[in-house]
Amino acid sequence: MPELSKRVSQFTDSVIRRMTRISDAHGAINLSQGFPDFDPPREILDALAKASYAGPHQYSITFGASNFRRALADKQSGPFGHDINPDTEIVVTCGGTEAMMTAMMTVCNPGDKVIVFSPFYENYGADAILSGAEPIYVPLLPPDFHFDPAQLEAAFQQHPKALILCNPSNPTGKVFTREELSTIAALAEKYDAFVITDEVYEHIIFKPYVHTYFCSLPGMWERTISCSSLSKTYSITGWRLGYLIGPAHVIERAKQVHDFLTVGAAAPLQEAAVTGLRFGPEYYDGLQKLYTEKRDFFVEGLDALGLAHTVPQGSYFIMVDIAKFLALPQFKGFSDLEFCEWVIRNVGVAAVPGSSFFREDVNNFIRLHFARSRDTLAVAIDRLSKLNDLLK
Ligand code: GLN
Repeated sequence: MPELSKRVSQFTDSVIRRMTRISDAHGAINLSQGFPDFDPPREILDALAKASYAGPHQYSITFGASNFRRALADKQSGPFGHDINPDTEIVVTCGGTEAMMTAMMTVCNPGDKVIVFSPFYENYGADAILSGAEPIYVPLLPPDFHFDPAQLEAAFQQHPKALILCNPSNPTGKVFTREELSTIAALAEKYDAFVITDEVYEHIIFKPYVHTYFCSLPGMWERTISCSSLSKTYSITGWRLGYLIGPAHVIERAKQVHDFLTVGAAAPLQEAAVTGLRFGPEYYDGLQKLYTEKRDFFVEGLDALGLAHTVPQGSYFIMVDIAKFLALPQFKGFSDLEFCEWVIRNVGVAAVPGSSFFREDVNNFIRLHFARSRDTLAVAIDRLSKLNDLLK
């Protein structure tokens, strides 16, 4: 038989999404792949019901339906500090995943370097391989996951084509400060690199932290490709609606990539989602309040169990330190993946092994998310208490 693609043999399936399948097979509470277990806003569902009869049911314009792009431009122009042209500066994609892949394929030639902070969302590794780029990893240093500016500059000295910035960061929950973003901006300017952002958790930010869009920094509009999605903001991860926003000459090329990758995002879903994009500030305040309550509840639960963990400033991810369990004789030689599989089978809670996010050899974290009803989170905490029995 002929050989299959060498490129594709360089990465595995997504561990995050694999954990969901294992979790489902065992009927566990799935706190691995991040998505909510509650419904999207009623108004969006009503709009979807209406679209099911009224349409559209045929292709939208490949780079996005015009009413969707108009609504998105209206929503983002203020916070971006740029009057976004919906015809020339937006591409609507099938989720943030396609947005990131499109951005990478738009800017990278084979052999180009891209800076990736580690730990990082696992898609960036595959995005780099598929677009032919070579990642340069720069560590985010615990406990607050800051970067060392000198280390970052050393990475820029290798003349990367772009830096990938996930803000708020998955899996650390870090929200980059304005000062940190300014450091990145100065280096991007000095070494003439693009910044590709992944800002899908832009509306899940916990006070007093404030999210700053990278493209809004002075001089950064021209070199930023802002990627995001409606998945987390409107609890519609299955709708696969995402987008790239950036300067027209970059977006023109991104449109070509997107056109041949997927043609376009689902037309009736774009139509219905316009309702969400037109929500006023009270919707986003409500979302923040909802997730703040969930975070606090889950954090208190983990604290009561004496589990060491990160406290997210944004996003809905928490990393729990499992070192004390891995030190037990029954887990001798276990990888964090094997530990997660054991927890799914024996505790009934699914997490993502931390090693799937770290470039470095880090084996002592698992990532849990709290986009679940309070009742489900309470049951999850109760189940996790079984881990403590192991220590007795
Ligand atoms: N970003 C989510 C996570 O890290 C999942 C997104 C996806 O699976 N496409 O769990």
